[in-house]
Amino acid sequence: MQPDGTILADDGRCYKRNEVEVHHEGKSFKDILEGFLRQEGLRLEDIKLEDIGEGYRLADRGLAQKWREFHRKHAHLLILPRRLHLEKHGQKQK
Ligand SMILES: [Zn+2]
Repeated sequence: MQPDGTILADDGRCYKRNEVEVHHEGKSFKDILEGFLRQEGLRLEDIKLEDIGEGYRLADRGLAQKWREFHRKHAHLLILPRRLHLEKHGQKQK
């Protein structure tokens, strides 16, 4: 997040928050989540979520911390403007 409220995207340019999307490069979110559940010996239904108004978070904050670290290690996230994001997915389907 830049001081003027724009976001520095991975193409090296700044965009407004509503112009960018997060792209999961490499493993999909689902694969990462499944790996995490396996590591922790949990099933998806064991994980409790709490409503924090603008979304949900893990009710178990210790687990949430582990999840953040696991996700950071395994996910390669790119912040891209919508146009580039669509291009990325278009290329994948060819
Ligand atoms: Zn994507």
